[in-house]
Amino acid sequence: MSPSDGARILVIEDDPAVRRILGRNLGSHGYRVETAGTGREGLDRDPGFHSDLVLLDLGLPDMSGIEVIAELRARTSTPIIVLSVRETEADKVAALNIGADDYVTKPFGIDELLARVRVALRRAARSTTTEPIFRSGPLTIDLARRRVEVDGVEVHLTPTEYALLSALAADAGSVLTERALLQRVWGADYGSEDHYIHVYMGRLRKKIEADPANPRQIRTEPGVGYRLMMNEEP
Ligand code: CA
Repeated sequence: MSPSDGARILVIEDDPAVRRILGRNLGSHGYRVETAGTGREGLDRDPGFHSDLVLLDLGLPDMSGIEVIAELRARTSTPIIVLSVRETEADKVAALNIGADDYVTKPFGIDELLARVRVALRRAARSTTTEPIFRSGPLTIDLARRRVEVDGVEVHLTPTEYALLSALAADAGSVLTERALLQRVWGADYGSEDHYIHVYMGRLRKKIEADPANPRQIRTEPGVGYRLMMNEEP
């Protein structure tokens, strides 16, 4: 039994074929699945079903996926993974900024989706415990002592570099948009100073990545943001 066994997943998707495929595949991996064909139906079902995770299609017939996220976020911190067919990055960024945790672009492979689901559930479980040490591959962050190590060797970060890394660590495994990072690190008045992120991300990667040109710890999600990976292997 894995820790995710029996987790309850609510699928909000108007395409019956995709609903069926998701229901069957998630069910065969031990998840309990409920499906809804409209945004309203999904919102009505969520509280009674006690969702551990919501898979949400952004293009729904009755309301926008963004509105669904806003309503869900007003009452719950349940992880939300957005399913998007849209070519524009703007929809994904808007969904993440309003509170979605991750996205998968259609058409997606079921293995990719299952991996995202596992990470989101693991992260949600971790955030309910007070885990002061973050470990991923060679990277260790002692959040109480503000100490960062790579392969057991201490790395000295400036306060801004540390703030950037700890903001990513707080949501490790999921994507943070540039706007979300700006607001967490520099403050609520920021939002369009993407160049700050680029400068400090470059410096941070030089200190924590074995090969800063091919980062393994902090991945760039082109046009969307950044993801601190949760690597199991050292
Ligand atoms: Ca749709």
